This record gives sequence, C-alpha cells and structure tokens, in this order.
Amino acid sequence: MLTFPAAASALADVGRRFYQRGWVQGTSGNFSAVVAAKPLALCITPSSAHKGKLAAGDFLRINSRGHVRAPATGKPSAETLLHLEIVNARRARAVLHTHSVWSTILSDRHRLDEGLAIEGFEMLKGLDGVRTHQHREWIPIVDNDQDMTRLSGVVRGVLRAEPAAHAVLIAGHGMYTWGRSIEDAERHVEILEFLLEVYGLSQNSR
Ligand SMILES: [Zn+2]
Repeated sequence: MLTFPAAASALADVGRRFYQRGWVQGTSGNFSAVVAAKPLALCITPSSAHKGKLAAGDFLRINSRGHVRAPATGKPSAETLLHLEIVNARRARAVLHTHSVWSTILSDRHRLDEGLAIEGFEMLKGLDGVRTHQHREWIPIVDNDQDMTRLSGVVRGVLRAEPAAHAVLIAGHGMYTWGRSIEDAERHVEILEFLLEVYGLSQNSR
C-alpha cells in the first residue's frame, strides 16, 4: 500500500494527465487512494482544486467517515462519500472520477435506461478480469443528486446489484471507476473513456 506522500504525488500526476485529455476540466473530478486499511484512511483531492495544477501538498488524509485528519484546515471533495462507498463495496485501493464530454453526454442520453451496454470491442480486455472482446460491460447510470448522503446510498445499491460492473455513471455529470492500485484505476479510466467515445461516435454516425 502506498504511503500518503506517494499517493498524493501519484494522484497529482494523474490529474495533470487527465486534464490534458480533457477529462477533468477546471475543478471538476476527484481522486482518492487508500493509504491505510485498519483503520481506513484515504488520500483525497481537496474541494475546488484545479485538477491540472494539483500539488502533492494539496491532498487531504480522511478517515472512514470522510472526516479530515490532516491538514487540520482542509475541506475534502464534495463527493468524498462516494469514494468511501466504492472503496468499501469493491475493496478498491484507488477511485477516480472524471467529467469527460462523452461520460456527460451518454449518461444523460441513457439515463432512463439506467445504464448502457458496451460489447464486442477489443479494448474491453483492458478491464480487470475481462479476457475476450465478446464481453458485455454494463455500466449502470444513477440520477445526479446534490444530496451526497442520498446519492451515496443509491450508488451503494447499484454496486451491490451489479457486482461485475467496473464503473458507474452519474447522469449528466460523469464517471466513477476504481482499481486495485492507482495504475489499475487510471487504466480503467483510459479504457472506459475510449469505449464511451467509440460508443457515442458510432451512435451518432448510424
Ligand atoms: Zn463530479
């Protein structure tokens, strides 16, 4: 497991790469990594930080209830509870949340379907445990909500109902994915953003 400084530095680098890809414009998105298991502690992005300009010193250490442990004055990302739900439900070591163009468009377009299915693409094999392009990945979509306690309860239910899912979309908002390490979670973002773009562009050209 990474130390807090190593996790902060690695997540700051992720922020710069994702910013350059257009997946976390401005202060959008948030990232976390587990830095202690018992008791649980996460290294997480602070609220309102520009994701292209993160420094390791900006990150916060929070406990299992989302309370900041260090530094004393910090305010964590508004969506901290969602990170904790995902860490608990999936035993994830890192959670990455993006606000890309395609996750925004497709989560809005398929909101009433409560998800979208992607299948038949070689790139699906970049998802943890997927061995064939014939895999069908169901990405659940939940309604957006500014009440984070309520939204985290909805996400908890979806993670339970869809144990094979590698990501969750929030309608008109963005994507959450996770992994056993920051590298795993970053790969999932790259694969899923690619697949969402392919899916969206091929719908448009039909
Ligand atoms: Zn968000």
